[in-house]
Order: sequence, then structure tokens, then C-alpha cells
Amino acid sequence: MYIVPTPIGNLLDITYRSINILKKVDYIITENIKHTSVLLKKFSIINILLSLNACNEHKKTKKYISMLKSGNNIALVSKAGTPVINDPGYFLIKESYHQKIRVVPLPGACAAITALSASGFKTHQFCYEGFLPKTKTACEKKLSSLCHEKRTIILYESPKRLVKTMKLIKKIMGKRRKITIAKEITKKWENIQRGTIKKLLSKIKKEINWKKGEITIIINGSNPIISNVISKKVFKIFYILEKIMQKSTAIKITAKICGFNKNILYNTIIKKKLHEVD
Ligand code: SAM
Repeated sequence: MYIVPTPIGNLLDITYRSINILKKVDYIITENIKHTSVLLKKFSIINILLSLNACNEHKKTKKYISMLKSGNNIALVSKAGTPVINDPGYFLIKESYHQKIRVVPLPGACAAITALSASGFKTHQFCYEGFLPKTKTACEKKLSSLCHEKRTIILYESPKRLVKTMKLIKKIMGKRRKITIAKEITKKWENIQRGTIKKLLSKIKKEINWKKGEITIIINGSNPIISNVISKKVFKIFYILEKIMQKSTAIKITAKICGFNKNILYNTIIKKKLHEVD
């Protein structure tokens, strides 16, 4: 079974090997028949398309495994990019290994890696988080767990949720955190912006063209040196305010001045105080 990446916008990004495999296999399994038909037409590939999507993945895996076991060669493609990366195919691949079917991955387009390469952040270590959870609470929890992540963070996001997500990143990771937003990579309206979350948020709120298109967000990893420098200043502000007002109000104001989430600041201050007592 071949895992064949397809372009994420510009059809010329397909590889010669991918075209060859798509021509030679007995069947092509795709997440989106309509989308893949356009690709096949462009490269004069004539082949049989079968579907595999989030709704039928469990049911169809059994059928495709038996086709593979009867000696058919199959190529797995997604709507765009590398199959299985936030796309269907996991069960099929796992079951292929179970059934001792050879799995052959081809290299090719992937939005996450393409955006990362242009992020301008460290790329020797990174973590891929896909889409953030949909509800605000779960999203906040996830971002809080990533707040001190030192590696560069890759996220997929829909344009409809972009502003909301950026506001949460600002609230939880602070307004100075650097991010890169890559929109419509490889397409005509490709737009890559890099800067602090505060700067990019105000830009995106003003410009209407950010409401559409495919978006990948890259967040610079947490820099412990900068965090410590900020912490010292933040604590100083907090201690001054704490002398003249209630602790909870002092935390609220400090968080507002420094662009931090008040709960995270509260926890950090409590931890620091406990540490000082120790
Ligand atoms: N398997 C795909 C891959 O390898 O890139 C990703 C599939 S995921 C369902 C689709 C998401 O990838 C989009 O919502 C967007 O966040 C990101 N994406 C896809 N194409 C993109 C592009 N041309 N520019 C920026 N982000 C893109």
C-alpha cells in the first residue's frame, strides 16, 4: 500500500514518482473523490477512485485490506497534503501492518512542514499539535499546557476561528510571544506574516482577506531566559501593587499590564512564594 502526498494548492508540487504510482496502482483510495479527480485529470492519470473518509473509515478499512491481501496495489491519498496527517488512513495503515501488507510512504507536500520551514523559528525540534480543541475551555487548557513548551509549535486552524484562537494565544502565552501565520501556502494569494501575537492580531482584525483560506500557525517556543527576565519585572510590579491593594486585584492589574493570563500569573506567584518559604 502506497501513501501518496498530493499538492496543498499548487498542482505542480506533485512529484514524478507520485504520478507514476497513481498511474500504476490498481486502485486509488481518496478522502475526496471530486478533489482527486481534478488532480488525476491534470496529469492524465486514469484510475479507479474509492472513498475513505472520517465517516466510513472503520467500515471501509476491512474491504480495502481484503483487496490488498488479494494482491491489489493501492495508493492512499487525501484531499491535499500528506495522508494521515490530520486526515483519514490511520486504521488502514495500522491494519496493513497487522496483516503483513507492505506500507510504502512517498515524500511530498505537507502544510505543517512547509509552513515550519518558512517560520523563521528554530526547526531542529518542533511539536505538531494539529487543530486545537473546539470549545474555549478545552482550547485554553491545551494552550496552557503548551505555554512553557520550548520547541516550536505547529497548529492548523480554520480562518473562521483564527482571531479567537489568536486572542487565546495572546491571553495565555503573552502579547510578546512571536508567531508566524502562513495562509494559502503555494497558492496565488499566499501570505506569510511573522511578528508578535499583539502585532499580528491587530493586523488580522483589520484585514478582511484573513477571513478565508487555509491557515497554519507556527508559535515560537517558550524562551526560558526571556521568561525569567519578564518574571522578575512582573513580580516587581505585583509586589508594589500588593502593598496598596488586595492580592487578587494586584494580580488582575499585573496581568493586564504585562499581557498575561491572570490564572497562570496567580499560580506562578503562589509557586514562587512557596519556593521562597522552602
Ligand atoms: N494532510 C494535510 C497536510 O499534510 O498538510 C493536512 C490536512 S488538515 C485536514 C487541513 C489543514 O491544513 C487546513 O485546515 C490548514 O490548517 C492546513 N493547510 C492545508 N493547506 C494549507 C495551505 N495551502 N496553506 C496553509 N495551511 C494549509
